[in-house]
Amino acid sequence: MSPLDTLAETLGPAACIRDEAEMAPYAVDWRGVYRGVPLAVLKPADTTQVSETLRRCAGLGLAVVPAGGRTSLCGGAVPMEQGPPSVVLSLERMNRLRGVDALDMSLVAEAGCTIEAVQNAATEAGRFFPLHFGAQGSAMVGGALSTNAGGIRTIRYGNARDLVLGLEVVLPDGRVLDDLRRVRKDNSGYALRHLFIGAEGTLGVITAASLKLFPPLAKRETALVAVRSPHEALRLLARCQESGAELVAFELIGKVCIEITLRHGTNIRRPMELTTDWYCLIEAASTHVSIPVREALETALMAGIEAGEAEDVVICESEAQRQNLWNIRETFPECSRIEAPGLPTDTCVPVSAVPEFLDRAAALIAAHWPEGRMVALGHMGDGNIHLSLQAPAGVDHAAWKARAPGFEMRVGEIAVELGGSFSAEHGIGQSKRPAMEALKSPVALDLMRAIKAMLDPEGRMNPGKVLPPA
Ligand SMILES: Cc1cc2nc3c(=O)[nH]c(=O)nc-3n(C[C@H](O)[C@H](O)[C@H](O)COP(=O)(O)OP(=O)(O)OC[C@H]3O[C@@H](n4cnc5c(N)ncnc54)[C@H](O)[C@@H]3O)c2cc1C
Repeated sequence: MSPLDTLAETLGPAACIRDEAEMAPYAVDWRGVYRGVPLAVLKPADTTQVSETLRRCAGLGLAVVPAGGRTSLCGGAVPMEQGPPSVVLSLERMNRLRGVDALDMSLVAEAGCTIEAVQNAATEAGRFFPLHFGAQGSAMVGGALSTNAGGIRTIRYGNARDLVLGLEVVLPDGRVLDDLRRVRKDNSGYALRHLFIGAEGTLGVITAASLKLFPPLAKRETALVAVRSPHEALRLLARCQESGAELVAFELIGKVCIEITLRHGTNIRRPMELTTDWYCLIEAASTHVSIPVREALETALMAGIEAGEAEDVVICESEAQRQNLWNIRETFPECSRIEAPGLPTDTCVPVSAVPEFLDRAAALIAAHWPEGRMVALGHMGDGNIHLSLQAPAGVDHAAWKARAPGFEMRVGEIAVELGGSFSAEHGIGQSKRPAMEALKSPVALDLMRAIKAMLDPEGRMNPGKVLPPA
């Protein structure tokens, strides 16, 4: 019996895929940049099977690459091309909701539930789950927690880490850490769950999570505002935050991004005349209809026009209009992939430093890669801008990366110099390991390596991801 036969015996043959064509989607990342063929794709149905699988993989010396919705933008969920013999462990069959408690304002979901399924379950219970990003229909609870995903509502509700009450995790040796608590306060020692959130599958496999819910949003108001530059956007953000409009999103979008979605998106309508280089997509919302959100937002935006912060304003009058604005924002990654290869970054700086960050990045590009195009949009409300250097026509990704070798690192350095981070919400995966080596504090790296060595001494959990070689 081959080692893989023993795994097939554990899970049943249908849950141990070895056919190359069936494994193909698990062997390439979402952007099509990273490839690595696993020995098998394993699909356990419950926590006991995950535990047994990890125990057997430990016995066989196989590396394990956990996979959720495989929307990682940094090559996290595919095996390394030149890595050790690996299996992909897909959580997709573990998609049960174990319970919703409206009074506790919490929900327990297995790792394979999509973020959208969690949102829908919360809505059915008369509650609201705020994590929201473009890939939410595919991204899963385990993947979103493992990358500590952010998205558009971080400004009000925090990122994925802030939404977790407890976790169930299978350790590399197969032991199960059952910490699926629903309590809001627990100071009984180290908060172990936070080790696994953002660990990108390098310390264990998240099998279920207890998540925070909130009262539903009864009323939303959405606006698109033309601004001359990010400096005006920053002042407008402060004005809106002080207005009582209760912001749930404040996105900054370069004009070039709107033009790209108009070119490649489906059913996208031009939202206004694009007379300036930058736009703010703002959403305010309240949990009760009696709260005058629209009035507060309108007053703030009109005052913004008078103060020279805003040039033009569209406040949505219909759900279709609102949807069109969000489609522009959320289909941008897909449209940008169609437009041209890019070198993406995912930085975060203090909110007040966003304009300087963008000015310095623009100057860097003009000085070193003038043939490329700066494309930037992101979560202005939390300082997380996604800035990419787009290739000129006819240049493919590999060639462009070779022509602009220091770009991602230089942008990461600017963010760090401004007191920020070179990795905000997408994780490190394979793509940002060089930045980890160059820009992360050596003491922090020492601690991370010590934790990794304690939990995964053989280095079999998602090898080649997150930590740079020692
Ligand atoms: C169009 C688009 C828009 C996006 N927008 C955003 C955005 O606004 N904000 C944002 O934060 N991200 C965004 N992302 C990135 C991505 O969707 C998130 O990182 C998401 O959280 C990944 O979830 P996933 O289930 O697809 O994880 P995967 O890609 O499957 O895995 C991600 C990492 O987690 C590990 N992992 C997966 N499941 C588990 C588990 N159960 N236990 C342990 N480790 C596990 C994997 O090994 C990998 O390292 C976007 C992606 C796309 C394609």
